[in-house]
Amino acid sequence: MKAVQYREVGSSPEVVEVPDPEPGPGQVLLRVSAAGLCHSDQFLMSLPSGAFPYPLPLTLGHEGAGVVAALGDGVDQVAVGDSVAVYGPWGCGRCIKCAEGKENYCLNAAAEGIRPPGLGSPGAMAEYMIVDSARHLVPLDGLDPVQNVPLTDAGLTPYHAIKNSLSKLGPGSTAVVIGVGGLGHVGIQILRALTPATVIALDVGGDKLELAREIGAHETLISNEDAPTAIRALTGGYGANAVFDFVGAQPTVNIAGAAAAAEGDVTVVGIGGGRLPVGFGAIGFDVSVRAPYWGSRSELIEVLELARRGQVSVAVERFSLDEAPRAYQLLHDGKIRGRAVVVPNG
Ligand code: NAD
Ligand code: ZN
Repeated sequence: MKAVQYREVGSSPEVVEVPDPEPGPGQVLLRVSAAGLCHSDQFLMSLPSGAFPYPLPLTLGHEGAGVVAALGDGVDQVAVGDSVAVYGPWGCGRCIKCAEGKENYCLNAAAEGIRPPGLGSPGAMAEYMIVDSARHLVPLDGLDPVQNVPLTDAGLTPYHAIKNSLSKLGPGSTAVVIGVGGLGHVGIQILRALTPATVIALDVGGDKLELAREIGAHETLISNEDAPTAIRALTGGYGANAVFDFVGAQPTVNIAGAAAAAEGDVTVVGIGGGRLPVGFGAIGFDVSVRAPYWGSRSELIEVLELARRGQVSVAVERFSLDEAPRAYQLLHDGKIRGRAVVVPNG
């Protein structure tokens, strides 16, 4: 089968021929319907050798959806032909975090070498993929896989981040979203669906701000060092009750910290390496700072339900498997509107 692999540190991803995978006991084989491209892939491929955390070659794609094609021994929770989304942050399945459905915070995954598809295990950017357990599959129940596959990360990650701040986002409140890319443009819609907050979106690209307004942001600002003052001006001097930073670079965590109101939340989702000092006087009074990772299985079910009810709709740019390297280049150049999705069997 064909697969998109990162093969050598510093090189571009390549479309290659690899052996067809077969499901072992407990595993499920999916014929992949759709695979999303995430900036985290880009980040990984920018790491120097020595810092790259996984064995190579690596089949990319940690946002996956597919149709069940074959079952390994002992699997009876799904059937051949089911259309499913893949919950990506795989855990051990037996620790207390996994029992809560929070496999993203599994206590044993790192020690046991359990890795998400596309982030250590062979990913979704191929004609077929192996899923280690039927537990990681969520029925799409009528949702279009191409249109909705980004919800497995670009939806789930902001959903988890925003859910943790709902108590701060009542009537009259303000939420700031920094970075209107794959995650950010879904985040804006989740904020509009779940809260009465005024949403202010920041990006460096005017086209991204246009998208932000189309999908529900009330205000948009160019992301620069004047942004915190502009946010204070828009909030009567108060600041933002919650800031979601989907870039996480030093300039954006600086904005996030400076824009947060007293008792506000700053959630740094982007992995751009920025550091926000925390301590008395370093940040507003009683501000909470978080750096979450992905989300829980039940949250994935909830975010898919938002899509089913038309409250969240991903802006998708479609590519064939052969076009995946070009799609990664466009993502790198900031030229994707919403999320790029590869359709391997299209
Ligand atoms: P993306 O490339 O689709 O979007 C990034 C957006 O940020 C673009 O619109 C870009 O124009 C904008 N941007 C760049 N620099 C900016 C700046 N200085 N100020 C404001 N906007 C700026 O990326 P994505 O796939 O949405 O991922 C966003 C970030 O989240 C990445 O760092 C990614 O690795 C990370 N991520 C984290 C998790 C997690 O669990 N914590 C999960 C998925 C992705
Ligand atoms: Zn991701």
